[in-house]
Amino acid sequence: MKKSEILTCFQCGTCHASCPSGKYTSLNIRKIVRDSMKKDVSGEPELWMCTTCYNCQERCPRGIKVTDAVLLLRSEAVKKGNILPAHRKVCGFLLKTGHAIPIDDKHITIRENIGLAETETVHKYPEALAEVKSLLRSTGFDELIKE
Ligand code: SF4
Ligand code: SF4
Repeated sequence: MKKSEILTCFQCGTCHASCPSGKYTSLNIRKIVRDSMKKDVSGEPELWMCTTCYNCQERCPRGIKVTDAVLLLRSEAVKKGNILPAHRKVCGFLLKTGHAIPIDDKHITIRENIGLAETETVHKYPEALAEVKSLLRSTGFDELIKE
């Protein structure tokens, strides 16, 4: 995304008014867009409160790719080591188990009780899990999420 695109923002607030996350968290996407014109906002913790629902991007009267900008800013943040502890933990699960939220004993039991197999994912196929791990490492994902 070009900086010139962001500069067309006229602070109408449509993005913030459309933001479901902004109703319940401190995320103010209009403010992030405004601040990004003046400074590096990749360290703002609110960036991680966006659910990437794309409401803001679809409704922006200037056609600014707001959600895409959030994703770019997050990528920058991660490269600088700015990642929330909870997200770092989820990334660790992904690297270790192939799942952002691995199945636990309670849910294995629930599945068994209704006649389902434990899982049909990388939990069940170690060779597939090894491939997932190899792919993640080849992208440098393991280095990015280190403390
Ligand atoms: S909806 Fe678009 S123009 Fe309006 S404040 Fe948000 S980014 Fe700026
Ligand atoms: S994409 Fe993110 S910032 Fe935009 S409306 Fe959805 S939650 Fe809010």
